[in-house]
Amino acid sequence: MKPLSGFEFIAGCLALDFVDTLGERAGQGRERLEDENALAAWLGQAELAPGGVDFSANDLAIARSVREAIYRCTTSVIDGGALPADDVACLNLTASRMPLRPRLQDGVLVRVGDQPLNAAMSVLAEDALGLLVVPRRERLRRCPECAMVFEDTSRPGKRRWCSSASGCGNRAKVRAHRARRDTET
Ligand SMILES: [Zn+2]
Repeated sequence: MKPLSGFEFIAGCLALDFVDTLGERAGQGRERLEDENALAAWLGQAELAPGGVDFSANDLAIARSVREAIYRCTTSVIDGGALPADDVACLNLTASRMPLRPRLQDGVLVRVGDQPLNAAMSVLAEDALGLLVVPRRERLRRCPECAMVFEDTSRPGKRRWCSSASGCGNRAKVRAHRARRDTET
């Protein structure tokens, strides 16, 4: 089910779910972090920020730049290229900041940070850095239909398509079936 906000958490890990907030990368791209409220909503759904935190326009700009650094690093792994040094430096710096820490509050464990944006980005950068080394880097995939980057967490590790509600795998299979039928008749 697609939540009302349009955010999907289907990339196999949070860092790539975050990358997917810029969707439809095979085409024009679709920015889902349209403003500070959208950023707060995504971080809330990802349990990386409690409700009621106000993020600034500068926070949004930082979040988007971290997101694109993750995107460029993971796609260079997929494409077999060298990691972009600037982006690795950005992720290293981001991951070095104090991450979210647990706090028991009214009988519930919440994760908070004194600097909410830095703390959330630190968690995402740590996840992203883990994707760039073995064994996880071998599980990075790009959907051939929609170009979404995901981590194949299936046991056999043979997943090709994203599991988007738009049904990339199905679309490709239907097309292949039609192509076969057309050559047979
Ligand atoms: Zn797809």
